[in-house]
Amino acid sequence: MTDRNAKRLLELLRQPGNDECADCGLKGPEWASYNLGVFLCTTCATGHRKIGSHISKVKSLKLGKWEDPEVEVLESGGNRLVAKKTERFVPACYRRPKPGDPHVLIEQWIRAKYERREFETDTCKDYTRGEMRGHLMKKAKDENKYFPRYFILSEAENCLKYFPKEGAKEPKATIPLSEMNVCLAPAKMHQDNGLQISYIVEGSTRHVYLYHESGHVIINWYMAIRSAKLNRFMVAYPSASETELVPFLCTDFALEGYLSKTGPSEADGYRKRWFILDHRKLMYHTGQMDAYPKGEIFLGHKDDGYAVELGAPKNCKDQGFTFHLVTPERTFVFSASCREERDAWMAALTAVLARPLRPQDNLMAVSLVRKRAGKFSLDIFSLAQ
Ligand SMILES: [Zn+2]
Repeated sequence: MTDRNAKRLLELLRQPGNDECADCGLKGPEWASYNLGVFLCTTCATGHRKIGSHISKVKSLKLGKWEDPEVEVLESGGNRLVAKKTERFVPACYRRPKPGDPHVLIEQWIRAKYERREFETDTCKDYTRGEMRGHLMKKAKDENKYFPRYFILSEAENCLKYFPKEGAKEPKATIPLSEMNVCLAPAKMHQDNGLQISYIVEGSTRHVYLYHESGHVIINWYMAIRSAKLNRFMVAYPSASETELVPFLCTDFALEGYLSKTGPSEADGYRKRWFILDHRKLMYHTGQMDAYPKGEIFLGHKDDGYAVELGAPKNCKDQGFTFHLVTPERTFVFSASCREERDAWMAALTAVLARPLRPQDNLMAVSLVRKRAGKFSLDIFSLAQ
């Protein structure tokens, strides 16, 4: 590369908007697409390369050899100017990728933007119509096998239903949108296009694991659920704007991972459990992909008797990297496998307890304490471990 072009690229990188990746926002792009005219991070450059050079031609800013015409495309384009066209009509429900987000989300954003060019016109998208139908692979409740099931999402009926097959009369489940969370779960499911749906049934959370071979299809379902939820929110909260409501749409879980926890009595030892922190709900499971949590703990506000503290409480064995969660009903003792893990959990839980409660949090607390009959009773009332 000539010194002159290297200097021109450096100057361009300093311009507002070019200092972060055009697709995920990561600071300090190291790549650029010299036909689209945008600066990119390494992950998104890989995504561009995957869709092919007929759409995007990428090159390393440091290692590539830059010709005059290529630099000129970047000079006349740049992240902000290109986004004005390629991101002109991104629906409010659409989840824009952030650094570290699942690959499927990043790749489908790149394809939607530059391959399908779906944000350049204000047309209705497949996922904003308020209804979606089709087959998805669903994990069986008690075994690690997936079967095709027919799904129908209906914003008008406020639910997602699934049937054993297309045309079947009776749904296997009808999930109200208001009680449902959907998140991308590729790592846990070992499936790039893995989706986890969680909802409350008879007072307990139920997890459903889904995937589709096509990343485009799975992201369409994901966005369709977000879109339907957003539209329902707008009816429920007419004075709020779309932007105010979007943060309350489905998000990935704040934190997930194994911790050991003790039972309610002093004599109980530690047992390894899979924990999921979902807003103000801390769930624990025997295995990562269980259909039901063994217990669910509502996380109230710190002024109402909730606290996270380092170490083990009196009369309880410290197993190493131990911390405990105090709730008005019970103290839960946890042990992490290393300091970083413990600190991450303590920080995440502390942040939740400091957050003011919203009306829907109180509703969740009520639904969680509505005791479920049988073995899935909740920790708030039961002594199950
Ligand atoms: Zn990026």
